[in-house]
Amino acid sequence: MLFDTHAHYDDERFDEDRDALLSSMPAHNVGLILNPGCDVETSRKAVSYAQKYPFVYAAVGIHPENINENWNSDLAVIKELAQTEPRVRAIGEIGLDYYWEKDERARAQQQVVFAHQMELARELDKPVIVHDRDAHADCLEIVRRYAGTRGVFHCFAGSTQMAHELLDLGYYLSFTGVITFKNARRAIEVIREVPLDRLMVETDAPYMAPEPFRGRRNSSLYVYRMAETIAQIKGMDAAEVERITTENGMRLFGIN
Ligand SMILES: [Zn+2]
Repeated sequence: MLFDTHAHYDDERFDEDRDALLSSMPAHNVGLILNPGCDVETSRKAVSYAQKYPFVYAAVGIHPENINENWNSDLAVIKELAQTEPRVRAIGEIGLDYYWEKDERARAQQQVVFAHQMELARELDKPVIVHDRDAHADCLEIVRRYAGTRGVFHCFAGSTQMAHELLDLGYYLSFTGVITFKNARRAIEVIREVPLDRLMVETDAPYMAPEPFRGRRNSSLYVYRMAETIAQIKGMDAAEVERITTENGMRLFGIN
């Protein structure tokens, strides 16, 4: 049974067939899905899917690209959801995105909102789901301040050195369809070095469809491709990778 630890079913690309698609997952060996939120609205939607489907869990948070002038009151809603909804298992996705944000003041703002959400995770004793795009050094610096807080770096794109630092801090690393692309050399090096008990698989649907589905709308139906690819890189059985990455996700997100 596979665990897609990161998929955005709130996306409008699922409006046509969301219910049919989600309902079909267990029959396709996708036994667990975690839907992170990116702002108040999508966090609420994530919670509603988790309430509807027994195999879906939610995370709530403000994504670095979705910070607006009301972020402080948004955070109060995020906190309330995380405290009152038992199917919220993490704060996320949160982090830094310097690929889309070039302005120094806006980047400083992202750091403040990220740190506030790390603080919230510590206070509520929940793991975090970190989005780190072209912001490796600053992400590392902020998570170091919250030693003891667990979490996952989703769609990990850092170096092997950064991977080792995160492993030392207790983090998991998760990988998307990027690892199935031809130019994925760095991620493959990281996967080779990281012990399997700290890896997770994810689709980041509807984005990042793996080969041979690249360019299509992604969904948890394709998460098996990440398990297969990790198995290939590590010279292991895909079934073993599937079992262990699922256990890792269950352990991190407190799912029995
Ligand atoms: Zn995402």
